[in-house]
Amino acid sequence: MAKFDLTSHPHKRFDPLRRQWILVSPHRTERPWQGQSEASSEDPLERYDPKCYLCPGNERASGVRNPPYTGTFAFDNDFAALQPDIPAGEIHEKELLVAKSESGTCRVVCFSPRHDLTLARMEVADIKRVVDVWAQEFSRLSNQPDIQSVQIFENRGAMMGCSNPHPHGQIWANQSVPDLLGQEIASFQEYFDRKRSGLLEDYLTIELESAERIVVSNDHFVVVVPFWAVWPFETMLLSRRRVACLSELDDQDRTALADVLHQLTVRYDNLFQTSFPYTMGFHQVTPECGNASGFSFHGHIFPPLLRSPTIRKFMVGYEMLASPQRDITPEAAADQLKQLSKVHYLSER
Ligand code: ZN
Repeated sequence: MAKFDLTSHPHKRFDPLRRQWILVSPHRTERPWQGQSEASSEDPLERYDPKCYLCPGNERASGVRNPPYTGTFAFDNDFAALQPDIPAGEIHEKELLVAKSESGTCRVVCFSPRHDLTLARMEVADIKRVVDVWAQEFSRLSNQPDIQSVQIFENRGAMMGCSNPHPHGQIWANQSVPDLLGQEIASFQEYFDRKRSGLLEDYLTIELESAERIVVSNDHFVVVVPFWAVWPFETMLLSRRRVACLSELDDQDRTALADVLHQLTVRYDNLFQTSFPYTMGFHQVTPECGNASGFSFHGHIFPPLLRSPTIRKFMVGYEMLASPQRDITPEAAADQLKQLSKVHYLSER
């Protein structure tokens, strides 16, 4: 019998952050990679859209008018999922019907006044201003007494349920720590208690040694397709220097974060020559909490696309009932991404 081989035999991989297994079925990709990119049917957008509720100077559904902003612009979400002032309460019925009041704040961050841009099409200096706003918002919100976690994220593209193409992201700040972040904090803590080192610091050392799954990097940050990636082209953004949160990044770090995001999003767009959809977000904790647990600030980028601008991966069937599964190996995905041009396909035309 042949020796066990990650490139050809079905296997499962362990995600040490979420502590779950992912089924990998590389034999199903032995058919040759087609690599065809269907003609992208996206209509070019205008720089300003009078109907867009995020463009400078326009009126939002709430009746509030946006200022004529020229850089970034952050405001309270008009349709916030969380509200700051709600009556506190709890329900406990026979351990089965359990509910708790949850307060918080939801913010929207416009990345640019230009309606037609995306992170992939913005200059590094302009992305740096977005990073600065993220850092400011993180420290302002996490310093509020009734806030325990601040989730910064971007839903990009209609495929990810984003209804407005204007470049923007969201920030949800909660009274409690949401489950996924809570699981990660527990994993970092458990690892730190046993090994006296940081889980993602040790993981980054392994990735730097092999370089097999590194997609882009600079002196401060490294983006890899994690060994345990679920989505076909999922990546994780790691900081070379361990920090707990964005507020601990100095000016150079922030420019480097903008640079690595730019490098990554350009390659994503180039993969299928389309404005690449994804959900991207950062996991971070306040410095006090982070030093205790070996926690490292990091980003997760979850793109849904599988093979073309229109063919996406679905998380259905086995994945809803048993465990996540993928065909293309994380190593093969990293290899495809890193071979792409660092120049955006639209700039090459
Ligand atoms: Zn995480």
